[in-house]
Amino acid sequence: MSKPVVIITGASRGIGAATAHLAAARGYAVCVNYVHNQAAAQAVVDAIRAAGGEALAVAGDVAVEADVLKLFQVVDNELGTLSALVNNAGILERQMRVEEMDVARLQRVFTTNIVGSFLCAREAVRRMSTKFGGQGGAIVNLSSMAAKKLGGPGEYVDYAASKGAIDAMTVGLAKEVADQGIRVNAVRPGVIYTDIHASGGEPGRVDRVKDSVPMRRGGSAEEVAQAILWLLSDAASYSTGSFIDVAGGR
Ligand code: NAD
Repeated sequence: MSKPVVIITGASRGIGAATAHLAAARGYAVCVNYVHNQAAAQAVVDAIRAAGGEALAVAGDVAVEADVLKLFQVVDNELGTLSALVNNAGILERQMRVEEMDVARLQRVFTTNIVGSFLCAREAVRRMSTKFGGQGGAIVNLSSMAAKKLGGPGEYVDYAASKGAIDAMTVGLAKEVADQGIRVNAVRPGVIYTDIHASGGEPGRVDRVKDSVPMRRGGSAEEVAQAILWLLSDAASYSTGSFIDVAGGR
């Protein structure tokens, strides 16, 4: 029997890479999408193959519609029938007070975090929906605790708003496709040890804020991947439009 196929966006590092490894170990054929770092994506693919799994690195900027269309076509041709999507790709820019934010920054953050997730979800629905002859499937979106609890001077208002939009899309889309064999859920990580904080100009952020976490530590990408894989799996067959916080009680 052929393996279920999953696309994981932004999977060359961090939570996406951890999810790719776990998905492959659970028997998925994995599309490791990346935007810039081909070598890192290929390293994830090589490690999966070395462990006996099936994976393919596919380039594509989720914020560019033509790239998304091509990404899904490559997966159709190379891996087969899509049954799962993890909308993981996301960006966090450096902390900034709202009065300093310009439109270009808002467009970058919203285009990657919400337009990118929307475009990939749309392509997934076009393939998975039983209404269009598909076999159903599952989508997991990467939200953030920022969507519901962050706040304070310079605390990434733009990023929080983009993740709030992810939450609304998760619920709305889940209801729209619930009778078409597709489940749509989201994971809300808290502070997780990945390079996103350094990319946002704040290396070492997790260690600086971890005392505000009830469990007094940051999380790992693997701990987030476990929740994502559960939501993708048949074990979550009656869950849609729902959220799992992976945030140490934050
Ligand atoms: P990361 O920066 O390590 O990984 C993000 C990945 O997305 C990178 O590989 C990056 O190249 C890719 N990406 C960015 N823009 C892209 C685009 N336009 N097209 C394709 N890929 C693109 O960060 P991470 O911590 O692993 O984050 C993964 C997801 O989890 C993000 O959506 C992030 O917002 C969310 N999240 C992370 C944390 C945390 O503390 N690390 C907390 C809450 C939510």
